[in-house]
This record gives sequence, C-alpha cells and structure tokens, in this order.
Amino acid sequence: QPSGSSKPPKPSFSKQDLQHYEESDFSWSKEVQAKLCNVFQLSKFRPLQRAAINLSMSGKDLFLVMPTGRGKSLCYQLPALCSKGFTLVIAPLVSLVEDQLMYLKSINVPAVTLNASSTKEDSKQLLAGMTDKNSPFKLLYVTPEKIAKSKLLMSKLEKAYNMGLLARIAVDEVHCCSQWGHDFRPDYKLLGILKRQFPKVPLVGLTATATSNVLKDCQKILCVQEPITLTAPFNRPNLYYEVRFKHNEDCTHQIAELIRERYKNQSGIVYVFSQKDAEVVATDLQKRNILAQPYHASMEPSDKSLVHQRWSSKKIQVVVATVAFGMGIDKADVRFVIHHTISKSIENYYQESGRAGRHHPDCIVFFGFADIFRISTMVVMENTGQQKLQNMVAYCQNVDRCRRAMMAIHFDEVWNDDECNQMCDVCRHGNDYITTDITKHARDVVAIVEMASSMDEKLTPLKVCDAWMGKGPAKHRKTIKVTSLSRVEVESIIIHLLLHGYFSEDFSFTPYTTHFYLKLGRKAALLKNGNHSITMKMRRVMSHATVKKVSESAAEKSSAKVKGKRPADSDDRKSGVKKVKTLL
Ligand code: ADP
Ligand code: MG
Ligand code: ZN
Repeated sequence: QPSGSSKPPKPSFSKQDLQHYEESDFSWSKEVQAKLCNVFQLSKFRPLQRAAINLSMSGKDLFLVMPTGRGKSLCYQLPALCSKGFTLVIAPLVSLVEDQLMYLKSINVPAVTLNASSTKEDSKQLLAGMTDKNSPFKLLYVTPEKIAKSKLLMSKLEKAYNMGLLARIAVDEVHCCSQWGHDFRPDYKLLGILKRQFPKVPLVGLTATATSNVLKDCQKILCVQEPITLTAPFNRPNLYYEVRFKHNEDCTHQIAELIRERYKNQSGIVYVFSQKDAEVVATDLQKRNILAQPYHASMEPSDKSLVHQRWSSKKIQVVVATVAFGMGIDKADVRFVIHHTISKSIENYYQESGRAGRHHPDCIVFFGFADIFRISTMVVMENTGQQKLQNMVAYCQNVDRCRRAMMAIHFDEVWNDDECNQMCDVCRHGNDYITTDITKHARDVVAIVEMASSMDEKLTPLKVCDAWMGKGPAKHRKTIKVTSLSRVEVESIIIHLLLHGYFSEDFSFTPYTTHFYLKLGRKAALLKNGNHSITMKMRRVMSHATVKKVSESAAEKSSAKVKGKRPADSDDRKSGVKKVKTLL
C-alpha cells in the first residue's frame, strides 16, 4: 500500500459543484425545459430548482431546504415526468395530498394516492399499476402511516423496484422525522425502511425549516448515506417583523384598529391559538365591520375551501385561523400576518409569518403573558416543547437584538446584522429600552412563591402577579411586599425569571386539564447570596400617557439611522450584552 493511505477527507459539495448542476446541458435538460413550459406552464426556474432537479435526475440523494411557497414540489414533480416508472411521494397530511392531486389533475399529470378512503377496486387497480411497464401514473402519494402499515404496498414497491419502475422517493416536510423539528410525526421515524429496501433509488427530502441538527437527525432516520443539502436563503428581506404587548388578554380591538387603519382593503391572516379562538375572534372582527371568517381543522372540508376561496378572491379580507391554515397557501398580496397568540416555537413562527406575500407585508405578533402558560400546558407532552416555547418567548421578550438575527441564530444561519435593513421593530426603534437592575424585585417575587409553598399552596403565574401587585387574598397581603411596578413590568420580570431558571414550571394534571404553577427554579437559591445581581433590559413603559413621546423619539432615531449614521445605541448595546447573558 502507498504510504499515507489514510483516506483523504471527503470533498463536500462546493460552489463549483453547484454551478455544474445549475447548468442545462444534461441529457435530460431539453425534456425538463419543455415540460416546465408545456406541462407546468412556468416560464423559468426559481433559484435552486434547476440544480435540485439535475441532482435528483443524476441519482443523488438530496435534502432541499427552501422557504414555504418557493416551489419545492416542482423539484420532484418535474423529474417524475422525465423518468421511467413512478415517483413515490410521502406527505404528512391527506389534505395536503388532495391539494396536490387536484393541482396535478388540472395540468394533466397522472398522479394517484392510496389512503383509508380508497375503495377496494381503486386500490387494486392502483397496486397493479405500480408494476405496469406503461406506468399509468407518474406520482404515487402516500402518508407515512401507509408505509408503516401496509405490507401489500411494501411488497408491490419491492416488485416495482426490481422491475426498475420505482424512479425516485420524495419525502415532503422531511423535518417531521426528527423530534427536534417543529412538527415531529412518529410514523416518519419508520421511513428508514425505504432506503434500506431500495438503496439504489434516489431520495429527495423537502422542508421549509430545518436546522443542521435536524437534518442530520433526518439523514440518520431515513438511512441516507451522503445526501447533498441545498439551502435557499432563509431571510425574507421584504417582511417586517414586529412584537407588540397585548394590553390585556383580549387584544382583538388592538388588531381591529390596526387592520382598519393600516391595512384598509388589504388581505391578511390572523393566527390564533385554538379553534374556539378562531370562531370568537372572527366574530369580534365582524362586529367591528371587518370581513373576517374563521378557519380551523374541525370545519367541514367544503367550508374550509370556501373560506380559502373567498379570501383568495378578496371577497373577505381576513382569515382568522389556527395553524391548520397553512401548507399550500400561495397568495402574493398577503399584506399582514398577525399573531393574536405567540406560536409554540420559532420554527412555527417563521413558517406562519412566512405565509405573508411579496409586497412589504408586516408580521406582527401580540405577546401576552397568559398565552405563554396556555401553550406551555398544551405542549406538555412534547419532548422538547418547553424549550422551544422558551425560545419563542425569548424572541418576543427580546428588546435589543435584531429579530432576524435571533431567527438566524436559531436556524444556524450565517448572519450579518446589516441584512435586516431596518425591517424589524428592534432595528427601527433599537433604543427603546433601559437596562435595569431587578435584583430587589426578583427577591420580592421569589419570596411570594416561597411563602406560598411553605403554606402548601401553588400559585399560577397570574396569581403571582396579582399577589405581588397587592390584589391577592387578604391572608397573603400581610407578608407580601407589594410592588409599585406596572402590570407589564411585573409580567416581564416574571417571564425573565422563568427564562433564566429562577422560576420553573410546575405542572399539575387533572383528567380534564393541565395546570401551570410557578415553583422555584434551580437558580432561585442564588438570590440568598447578597452579591448576586440580575439585570434585565426592559422596554420603556408604554403607558398611555408616554406612548406618543416614546414613539416620536423612536421615529427620530430611526430617521437618523436612515441618514447613514451609526445607531446611537450601538455602544450601549454592546455593553448591555456583557451584562446580561443572551437568551439563545
Ligand atoms: P413549497 O412546497 O416550497 O411551499 P410549492 O411547491 O407548493 O411550494 O409551490 C408554491 C407555488 O409556487 C405553486 O403555486 C407553484 O406553482 C409556484 N411555483 C413553483 N415553481 C415556480 C416557478 N419556477 N415559477 C413560478 N411559480 C412557481
Ligand atoms: Mg410543499
Ligand atoms: Zn432587524
């Protein structure tokens, strides 16, 4: 053996490689181009689509990470039409599959699905078609459950594979494989069987959001050896991100005002927490003369598509929706996406806000104290639910980091702060906070929880707020140091202490609900030490009297920045970072 026979490091996929696949002189390129125009009726590719298609046509395994609505489906549908046999597509939801089939039918692409509602006769014909050399269909859509459960399907796939008719495997929403992704589905875990049984078939995994860790996890679960990952830039430069405090738990009037004043006659989405909220908020908006309708999972499919249709054709202005309204929306003129309630994770927020259109839409999330605990109890059974929610809360609580930077860090993206271009509230009004020493406040409020627990009582976060503000039961009042802070400040401090481990969550389960109580966190004991101090950055108090003044000064500052000056606060900001540990 030659000396130094240790294997050279594997070359990773380089810019040059990408360039090679961006070209159009492959043996299939003519056909691909022709079908793009004639079948899909599209004039040109969007960024990365051609490379993805060429890679997949070359037989490579591929992960494609592209924001929602950019056209991931084309990257397996077009290869399917240009290959012998059929492409197996795994998609998480029957409704998603139905949407796709409707679309494919409208452009005369033969595609089928096998699901619980397929008749016996249909299934029989379909299974026979899989091993038919004339390939009566080019795409076969199934849910992962089907792969896990149907032995018959697997044996037919085996047969098709041996006949060279299984052209490709596409796993849509591939992040569902990983429990670190935002939408883990247990049946995706079993999809490793595909690559093990059909090693020669190229696989393409598609997703809008996945961190590199999630992708590594997916790679392992799907048993893909060395996939090439193509990532479209995650930044959507035209979206304006903003976080607002909810003035009280029902913020519908705040939203209604915003829609009436700023978005007259412009389309938008209001995302809410629950189906009931969707109904209630939609009705409230209607009462305020806004054309709004609810959309959620328990509505009849026909009603859902009716709402979608009315909204697309601008017969109604606003859809008030749960997360059920999402995948597959492609409306260019969505002017605003307002979150009535925070999302349960940054991944979810990025996706939901990403449904905004192309013309400078606003993405505004209303950050309410009680919502945190509603969501927390909802995700209590999810492995990483609390951590993800905390990241989302930290995103909202943040006052000094660019919103985009926070998302970029979260998604492991390389990020340059200038790229935001004043398109988030922090970059625009960055000076609008003060760094405060909250040690004394922290001791006072921790003492309340300590006292309660010594009396064998549990307090919800709302009760803690009330008690601290002197509104609790009389028996507590004697021992409590009532604060003169405002409600917003009280809430912010409690959230800060929760995010930093001075408080932690104490769930209690009844057959009907889960309750969220506050208990002392692992760092609470540090407060006994006289030298321990906690500082926090707080938004300047937005009491009604000061609101005008503050926003004026913020506007002045932002205009100063636009004139090309360095942000006046950049030094404060740096020193602030030293004082307070960043949350993410
Ligand atoms: P994703 O799965 O990435 O969210 P889809 O595959 O559902 O996105 O596509 C979203 C929309 O983009 C569809 O209406 C599709 O027809 C359209 N689209 C895809 N590729 C192109 C293209 N090259 N040019 C114009 N529109 C495209
Ligand atoms: Mg898609
Ligand atoms: Zn910014």
